[in-house]
Amino acid sequence: MSSYAVILAAGRGSRLGQPQPKQYLSVGGMPILRRTVEVFTRHPEIDHVQLVIHPDDAADYRQAVAGLSLRAAVFGGDSRQESVFNGLMNLNAEAADLVMIHDAARPFVSPATISAALAALRDQPALDGVVAAIPLTDTLKRVEDGLISETVPRADLWRAQTPQLFRFGAIVAAHRAAVGAQFTDDAAVAEAAGLKIGIVPDSAANFKITTMDELERARQICVPGSAASIASTMAVTFAPRTGLGFDVHRFGPGDAVTLCGVSVPCAYGLIGHSDADVALHAVTDALLGALGAGDIGDHFPPSDPQWRGAASDIFLRHAVALATQQEAVLQHVDLTLICEIPKIAPHRQAMRDNLARLLALPHHAVSVKATTTEGLGFTGRKEGIAAQAIVTVQRPIA
Ligand code: MG
Repeated sequence: MSSYAVILAAGRGSRLGQPQPKQYLSVGGMPILRRTVEVFTRHPEIDHVQLVIHPDDAADYRQAVAGLSLRAAVFGGDSRQESVFNGLMNLNAEAADLVMIHDAARPFVSPATISAALAALRDQPALDGVVAAIPLTDTLKRVEDGLISETVPRADLWRAQTPQLFRFGAIVAAHRAAVGAQFTDDAAVAEAAGLKIGIVPDSAANFKITTMDELERARQICVPGSAASIASTMAVTFAPRTGLGFDVHRFGPGDAVTLCGVSVPCAYGLIGHSDADVALHAVTDALLGALGAGDIGDHFPPSDPQWRGAASDIFLRHAVALATQQEAVLQHVDLTLICEIPKIAPHRQAMRDNLARLLALPHHAVSVKATTTEGLGFTGRKEGIAAQAIVTVQRPIA
């Protein structure tokens, strides 16, 4: 799926009282706009970046993004909504599947949030969009004539931020229908069109710089060498990491084996502490290898009775969660099953489907293969099944 980012930088930022619009102000020696844009241009899952700017800022803009690979900027309109519309219209001739809309004044957007939003739309075909949001923790008061009239229940209340990710055709249609109306974000435009919009939990670190206090906070975060600076996305560059996994399980009594979570009829079962899914164990070890996070036995000791008979997708889900913690983005998996029996080919597509689902990867990034060993060795003697896997991720390096 092709993924475009539209970054909104057409606002005037009047609340800061600075001569320059806020997105061109410098934070830690770099314009806010450039910090924001670089998070997207460096993200391995974002294909193209489209800026929407104000005509008065053309010179500032050229200076701020010098050397970055971007689509030619378009000019915004009189409102945020019009500016988004102009950006979307400029992409209309492209084969965009997904479009992520983001405010230039949020330079601390995390690559993991971007990945999580993309994974959510890949995983959930029924959703038209997702919004980065934070559950409300403050208590809300309604105030009338200077006095509190009501405490508003906060359960189910979220603060919507950006990025907001949508299926391209759906959000274009929603924006067309909303021309002339006044909405404060794109989710509201989508909701008005009856689209199904989900939530991706975001971090408060992805704050919008609109006041002097927030500008000061951003500058403190970006003091070189500070802990906050190291933790912020400013220094993030992705590098590829590859991990190799290998596993073997022995045949025993039974009439089916579980491979990639798929039950496959067989003259034997596989013996193991868990469900003995040799394929998922190899993939899990490969992913842990790519993350430099030890092996499956470190995380799930075979001596621990709670994993007896466990479905092995919990091991893989754990490794995927570790990847998310490291802000690593899964890129690809290639799995080879080595066995004389059962025949893998009739079940290969189901295995691939399940692996793609568990890893939140598109099908083209998931490969399942099988081979025999020509009757040689333990697999040739039908004593068991071996599996090897190789997993590639992109992970942030300082
Ligand atoms: Mg194993």
